[in-house]
Formats: sequence, C-alpha cells, structure tokens
Amino acid sequence: MRILVTGGAGFIGSHLVDKLMENEKNEVIVVDNYFTGSKDNLKRWIGHPRFELIRHDVTETLLVEVDQIYHLACPASPIFYKHNPVKTIKTNVIGTLNMLGLAKRVGARILLTSTSEVYGDPLVHPQPESYWGNVNPIGVRSCYDEGKRVAETLMFDYHRQHGIEIRIARIFNTYGPRMNIDDGRVVSNFIAQALRDEPLTVQVPGTQTRSFCYVSDMVDGLIRLMEGEHTGPINIGNPGEFTMLELAETVKELINPAVEIKMVENTPDDPRQRKPDITNAKQLLGWEPKIKLREGLPLMEEDFRLRLGVAKKK
Ligand code: NAD
Ligand code: UDP
Ligand code: UDP
Repeated sequence: MRILVTGGAGFIGSHLVDKLMENEKNEVIVVDNYFTGSKDNLKRWIGHPRFELIRHDVTETLLVEVDQIYHLACPASPIFYKHNPVKTIKTNVIGTLNMLGLAKRVGARILLTSTSEVYGDPLVHPQPESYWGNVNPIGVRSCYDEGKRVAETLMFDYHRQHGIEIRIARIFNTYGPRMNIDDGRVVSNFIAQALRDEPLTVQVPGTQTRSFCYVSDMVDGLIRLMEGEHTGPINIGNPGEFTMLELAETVKELINPAVEIKMVENTPDDPRQRKPDITNAKQLLGWEPKIKLREGLPLMEEDFRLRLGVAKKK
C-alpha cells in the first residue's frame, strides 16, 4: 500500500507516520510545507527505503501515485491559524480540492481530518455528528472552522459526483509528545509553564470545557476509520470533559505543585463547552480511547522535559 500523509511533519501526522511505517507492506510519502511542522518529527524515517518526504504546499497541484491519502495539512493551533487567516482558508479549501482531484485521478481513498470546531460554540451537548453546529461565519476563528466545513462539503460532493471513497474524522482536542512547545494550545502551554515555573495562564472564565484525547488513541481511531467501511463524519475524541481550571489544577498537582494559576484575558468566540458523543466510533469502528488525561499528561511531561532541558526534581 502506498500512502500519502499531508501535514505528516506535524504533531498528529508524525505519530500517524510512525504507526503506518510499522507495517512493512506500507510505503509512506509525506508532503508538508513546514509551516507548523518540522523535519525533526520525522528524523527516524529520513533515509528509510519505504519513506519519502517532500516539501510541498497543498495549495499547489501535486502529482504522485498513491492508494490512500490521509489529508491533515492545516495549522491546528488558534495562534497559527489566525496568523495568516487567508492562507488558512486557502489550505482548507484549495488544499482539500487538490487532494480530492488527486484522489480522483489515481482512484485513492481519502481521509480528511476535520475538527470539533465545525460545531462552533455548540448549543447541543455532548455533540453528536448529526448536530449542524453554531459557527460564526465572519469571526476570527472562521478561517479554520468554516474552512473545515467547506472541506467536508467538498469531500461529500466529490463522493456523490465522482464516486471518490471518502472518510471524515471530526477530531476533538488532542495532546501528546511532539506538540509545538510554544504553539499556544492549552495543554502544551500549561505543561511548558509548569516546567518553567511560570504561572499557568487560564483564560477567563476558566469554566469553559474541553475533552482531551491522547495522540496514540487518536492515531488508532484515524487508521480504523480509513480501513473501515464508513464515510463518516465520525467524532474521534475522548469524552472525559474538564474545565480549564480543572486542567490547570491537574497539571499543577502532577507536575509542579508550587506553580501559580493566573486568570488572563480570553480571545473572541471561544467555545464554552465541548465533548464528543462517540457512540458512532464505538459502534461502527469498535474504537474508544484508552488513555485517561492523568495517564497521558506525564507522558507528555517527559517529552517536554527532554526538549526544554528541565530535569525532574528528586
Ligand atoms: P500541526 O500544526 O502540528 O500539523 C499540521 C501540519 O500541516 C504541519 O506539519 C504543517 O507544517 C502542515 N501544513 C500546514 N499548512 C500546509 C500547507 N498549506 N501545505 C502543506 N503542509 C501544510 O497540527 P496537528 O495538531 O497535527 O493537526 C493535524 C490535523 O488535525 C489538522 O488538519 C487539524 O486541523 C486537525 N485537528 C487537530 C486537532 C488537535 O487537537 N491537534 C483537533 C482537531 C483537528
Ligand atoms: N489535482 C492535483 N493532482 C492531481 C489531480 C488534480 O493536485 O493528480 C488538482 C488540480 O490541480 C485541480 C484540483 O486537483 O485544481 C481538482 O481536480 P479536478 O480534476 O477534480 O478538477 P479540474 O482540474 O477539472 O478543475
Ligand atoms: N486556554 C487557556 N489558557 C491558555 C490557552 C488556552 O485557558 O494558555 C483555553 C482557551 O480559552 C480554550 C481552551 O483553553 O477555552 C482550549 O484552547 P486551545 O487553543 O488549546 O484549543 P481550542 O480552542 O482550539 O479548542
């Protein structure tokens, strides 16, 4: 099987590549423009005969011959996707269109990593896939959430019009080793702050919730979806729901009990609650997450200690 992973130098993509490379029958091609990803995440595979890394921007035409496409390319952290919103929407719309054109030409199956952000600031809780969402079309997050909504539409239109085999995963907040240390997402921020003895910055009101999935569970869910019979969209996430204050307290307790918790300003349109309904993932894919937040945080702490050069106190 020859598999293309777009965005494979990023956080989730590089873990997905590790898993796909374990199967000796797979050849993996990564394309990435290194906007938020890095070659470092793939260094163990560079030079491997079944692996190829191409610097390429998915908003440009791509000619490769593959059997499957995991289409992840897109910045995922709010500070990065808001940095150049026009580029973000181009990546979501033109990038997905190009990957669908490629899938059509070569007859490949294509999986899109969509997001829980398609539910916006949800009025239904927890969110099932049948919920259409509550998204601001003109806000500062719209380049990402409306971009992914159009990407989903393109996927279904290519499926209906051209018979392309599609899979759509709606990914909920994911964390783990190799997250960018300063990418601004909440788990990476809190762990880096705890290790640097800096206050944990909880954005007001602190009662907003998220549900955090460990990256190995996420990768397992994505592969099951690709290999299964269902187009989706299917929610992939961990239903364990925490307020941001609870998350800060947990990081403090596990990593640095001496650290302060500081309330800071929030950004516009921050969703107030988010928790996946994973009934479909359980029934259709036989998937559910295995790693609880309290087990996953220490695994991420280890990786951040190595990268920040902060040894564990005895
Ligand atoms: P990431 O930023 O670490 O990885 C994204 C990768 O895509 C990076 O390597 C980046 O360089 C690359 N990229 C960005 N724009 C590109 C372009 N135009 N052409 C080629 N490459 C490009 O993010 P991640 O957390 O690994 O997210 C991967 C996917 O999962 C994204 O599609 C994201 O929307 C989705 N997702 C992630 C989360 C999460 O919590 N991490 C939640 C929901 C959805
Ligand atoms: N495309 C690509 N690689 C391919 C085939 C197509 O990048 O192997 C791009 C192509 O540049 C086009 C897009 O995918 O912009 C959509 O292709 P499609 O064939 O569906 O549409 P058309 O080219 O007819 O507009
Ligand atoms: N958040 C926080 N402190 C931070 C960064 C984020 O309290 O240092 C909050 C943010 O307000 C949001 C939640 O954490 O309610 C998740 O934010 P993140 O950027 O990680 O992901 P997303 O908003 O895309 O779910």
